[in-house]
Amino acid sequence: MKNANDLKQLLRQIDHKSYPAYKDTRGSYRFPGYVLNIDHVQGDPFASPSKVSVSVAGLEAGFPVDTYDQPHKRIALQDHILRLFSRALGQYSFKARGSGKSGLISVSRCGQEILERTACQLNPKNGDLLIRMEVGFPADGRRINSGELIKILFDFLPECIPASLFYKRLNARKIQQVRELSEDQYYIRQQLKEKRLTAFVANGTILPRESGISSRPMKNAVPFCSPKSLEITLDLPHRGPIAGMGIPQGITLIVGGGYHGKSTLLKALELGVYDHIAGDGREYVATDDTAVKIRAEDGRSIKKADISMFINNLPNNQDTRVFSTEDASGSTSQAANVVEAMEADTRLFLIDEDTCATNFMVRDDLMQRVVHRDQEPITPFIERVRQIYQEQGISSILVAGSSGSYFHVADVILQMNQYKPMDITKLAKEEAKKFPLTCEDAPKATPPQNSRCPRQACAFRKNDRIKMKTLGKDAFSINKETVDLRYVEQLVDSEQTTALAYLLKYMELHCFNGHTALKDIVAELSDRIQKHGLVSVNEGAYLSSNLAMPRPQEIYACVNRYRGLML
Ligand code: ADP
Ligand code: MG
Repeated sequence: MKNANDLKQLLRQIDHKSYPAYKDTRGSYRFPGYVLNIDHVQGDPFASPSKVSVSVAGLEAGFPVDTYDQPHKRIALQDHILRLFSRALGQYSFKARGSGKSGLISVSRCGQEILERTACQLNPKNGDLLIRMEVGFPADGRRINSGELIKILFDFLPECIPASLFYKRLNARKIQQVRELSEDQYYIRQQLKEKRLTAFVANGTILPRESGISSRPMKNAVPFCSPKSLEITLDLPHRGPIAGMGIPQGITLIVGGGYHGKSTLLKALELGVYDHIAGDGREYVATDDTAVKIRAEDGRSIKKADISMFINNLPNNQDTRVFSTEDASGSTSQAANVVEAMEADTRLFLIDEDTCATNFMVRDDLMQRVVHRDQEPITPFIERVRQIYQEQGISSILVAGSSGSYFHVADVILQMNQYKPMDITKLAKEEAKKFPLTCEDAPKATPPQNSRCPRQACAFRKNDRIKMKTLGKDAFSINKETVDLRYVEQLVDSEQTTALAYLLKYMELHCFNGHTALKDIVAELSDRIQKHGLVSVNEGAYLSSNLAMPRPQEIYACVNRYRGLML
């Protein structure tokens, strides 16, 4: 292997040459303690920056095996290392100068959630560490300025790399805390299953966020406090006993006056499918990790979804067992979201009235009297929620402040009062008896049939280059088709969106064959990326952007919103 001096010499030789001469630097170079890989060199100073990675052998990195011997610990450690490295690197970005993106140095920016990312990977077999970053190779105009790149590769990186990637240089106490938190979080998730809970929210949790654009904890917020009737104590392996609210499986209703914190609680449950970093305030919130937020999503496309358990006898006689539209209404979109989440094997629906289609949720007595059942295609969710739990084992947590109808079907009723939940099940049930539901039971429905087998779209049959572009967290485009993920609210990072683009491309090229069911495709693919990492779906010579792990539920959500899907 070439070494650092070879690289320095090469860089000096190409100084002032025209930019493409930088391409000669591609390759791997041994530096003291690590290997620097120049994986891809940008075409010009204004193009997207060059891809550089750093590999540190397990022996050099030196992390104790018990900090990464299980996936949850490894992911938490990777996340921590990446944050350290990112902080160290931050001060050097654009310290080297020049035109365009010259001097940019960046790694993934981590939010409050702990995600598996291609930006930092620790090999569980041998402790080898790989960090992927972007560097804008410096230029004056379009001429190479290799002196500035030498600064980056020979001064800045050697400052940051040992200081954040070598265990012996790190705060061992902090690393231990990261491991302990991750073990505690893992333990809570195990307990959810054991105790048949859908979620746990520890007392003292800070639920609200700083603002609509910041997901940091709100200062001076009212800490969470469980009602006594739902309080359980878990004995965490490191932190010891911790009390909090255990939400049992079944149907849970959250009511309360406007502005009393209902949606804030639900939002925390939505994101409780992920672990949160220390200091976030939601460290000890865990939700069943298959939970799916269900909402109305007018305008989305639907491809052959079986929404017949909610919608039947449409005026145009469309068969709702294979319902398709390019422009769904509020209620049809929400019905599709429910049945698709079932297909994605969710065990918990999370629903907030703020983002629901009212006619999908309830139909009041008076309306039932005036517009008879035969004239109404929609069977509202309230008439199905019990059946869905009993027959398919899918629980629901619903926020509903304006309609009392759900009192009748809920197992547990919480009232948010001044940001504190109270258990009002008994009272609400008694009151509900005075207002019996007059409707006859809705006819039983057969659960949706999931046998959709996607075919390959024409655009992927040719050997042309497939263009992909991530548009923030909310969307990506693939071969000019935009996949809108704005309302897939449990996506938290644009790198997850990028990963979905890669996964969709992979499925189009290798899995959509007209006879394998979507269910099997997603199951196999999820398995593959869990075992072999997200890089295993990358087919280019290098990874052109970093990716973060989405859940299988989001992979489904992405395929279901893909207008190019051929069925
Ligand atoms: P609701 O859905 O019941 O109308 P929200 O959950 O939207 O209420 O909360 C209303 C406001 O109160 C939000 O601005 C939120 O940030 C704030 N809030 C929520 N929970 C707390 C809390 N525990 N402490 C302080 N403020 C809170
Ligand atoms: Mg609300």
